[in-house]
Amino acid sequence: MEILKGIPVSPGVYIGEAFLLVGEEVRIPERFVPAEKADSESKRFEAAGVQVAKQLDAIKSDTENQLGPNLAAILSVQTQLLKDPSLRQRILDKIRKDHFSAEYAVAKTLRDFAKVMTASDNQLMAQRASDIFDLEKRLLNDLLGEQREDLAHLQRPVALIAHDLGPSQTASLDRTRVRAFATDVGGRTSHTAILARAHEIPAVVGLETITTDVAGGETVIIDGNRGIVILRPDERTLARYRKIQAEFEAFEATLTKDKDLPSVTHDGREIHVLGNIEFPEEVRGALTHGAQGIGLFRTEFLYLKSGVMPDENDHFEAYRKSVSKLSGRPLTVRTLDLGADKIDKSQTSSEPNPFLGLRSIRLSMKRPENFRVQVRAILRASALGKVRLLLPMITAIDELRWAKGVVEEIKAELAAKKVPFDDKIPVGIMVEVPSAAMQAHAMARECDFLSIGTNDLVQYTLAVDRGNEHVAHLYTPAHPAVIHLIKNVVDAGIAYDKPVGMCGEMAGEPIYTILLLGLGLSELSVAPPSIPEIKRLIRALNFEDCKKGADEVLKMDDANQILDYLRELAKKLLPPDIKFGGL
Ligand code: PEP
Ligand code: MG
Repeated sequence: MEILKGIPVSPGVYIGEAFLLVGEEVRIPERFVPAEKADSESKRFEAAGVQVAKQLDAIKSDTENQLGPNLAAILSVQTQLLKDPSLRQRILDKIRKDHFSAEYAVAKTLRDFAKVMTASDNQLMAQRASDIFDLEKRLLNDLLGEQREDLAHLQRPVALIAHDLGPSQTASLDRTRVRAFATDVGGRTSHTAILARAHEIPAVVGLETITTDVAGGETVIIDGNRGIVILRPDERTLARYRKIQAEFEAFEATLTKDKDLPSVTHDGREIHVLGNIEFPEEVRGALTHGAQGIGLFRTEFLYLKSGVMPDENDHFEAYRKSVSKLSGRPLTVRTLDLGADKIDKSQTSSEPNPFLGLRSIRLSMKRPENFRVQVRAILRASALGKVRLLLPMITAIDELRWAKGVVEEIKAELAAKKVPFDDKIPVGIMVEVPSAAMQAHAMARECDFLSIGTNDLVQYTLAVDRGNEHVAHLYTPAHPAVIHLIKNVVDAGIAYDKPVGMCGEMAGEPIYTILLLGLGLSELSVAPPSIPEIKRLIRALNFEDCKKGADEVLKMDDANQILDYLRELAKKLLPPDIKFGGL
């Protein structure tokens, strides 16, 4: 049994079989094994060699039958490499003398070898490097225990283990099979984590070495509440976790019972609790969890799932479907927020610092055609229900003015063609960059509503990459700088009588509910599974108490002090039967 600690990103417990996803660019972290394990590690390598030799022989004879002996001979290169005694010896030396794990010894030796060949002036030698990479992949697949299945054709429920999962990969996961996941990299507000929460898949990220610590087919426990992954659990641990799993499910069931009760504090202040979605199909789930509307529709996922830019009709259909299910509740459509964090790396690699690069509204301003198409579809949908238009990553007022100008132009075009739309459609901005938060008064004067995106606001205020596990300990919305920025935005909303909500993940974390109510937020938009719990907390609180608590927090200068204070305050203000996350 082995226990790994990572970052909990999606609650719930799953006990089951590990499925190891070994991508093309699998990266084997440097890992060492104790001297006494050198024998077993060497044997693992030798056994992988035998398996790979068999695979190569089988492929070779198939190729020979189909394409003739000349083409089949190409495959002999890998077999010869595999049999090369000096190469084999080098790998074994790395295991015995340098104490490398078998995976790391294979990857290091073969990659060093390939590097020399790639640098060679001899064309033939340089081309051979791809044979080496291919052989490395085969050996690693065997050592890491990848089964001969792929993600699209899973036969049974699994816990997916991967180095990383891109948002589009997560979006297309088969939820009936992938019941949990754990990754080497990632942070709490990475989009992969956000999707896991939306899909109610327990997940732990930032485990650093899980892809090398676990083999496919082994039993694992993924504890998404505590951020723990247990490999090869013993009987006692399994029994304990089965109990925890049952308790968590019972907790969820009690919450669901009260999900449609209003979210009004004891002293009569109503806070709207809405859901964040990525696809129109999620509207139903959000309503089932008690959502009072959709506070954030991340429309870029329409592009990410299909890989092609949606046309006007694709957009319109997505909004029409959503509005039709909402029966008069609001649908907040955020225009495409595409950028380095979501687009395939190969498309953004030309930017030296993509998080500060051509993202979101900047991309829309650079390529206005896509923006115009989307605005037209949003306006058309606004004739069918209550639709709001939300602009992502506004950093300066001219971006807001430009976007509003485009909206007015499209309105005029539609009016000329007698196409119906809501002439008073609210146009709001995401406040997710410190410049917008500091300039909130100017922004509030010119927009109809503000929605605070703490996922990016924390990242840009604290200079901490939201998806990087190495700095995850520095990423906290409890930092006083973040809290003061939020306060400034709320004050701006009050000054100009514009609603201020929050749609970043902070809004769905129970530890912050008292603070956010006290600061004066009137709307919280959260991952649908968090809605019942946040609503229940609101019903259990008094606005005046929250306000006093927030005033105290605003005097504090340290994130840990703030968190301790919020924990104590929750104990004082909440009835004893209310425990965060059922824990
Ligand atoms: C945010 O940044 O807080 C936000 C809600 O947007 P996203 O997570 O899609 O970047
Ligand atoms: Mg954002």
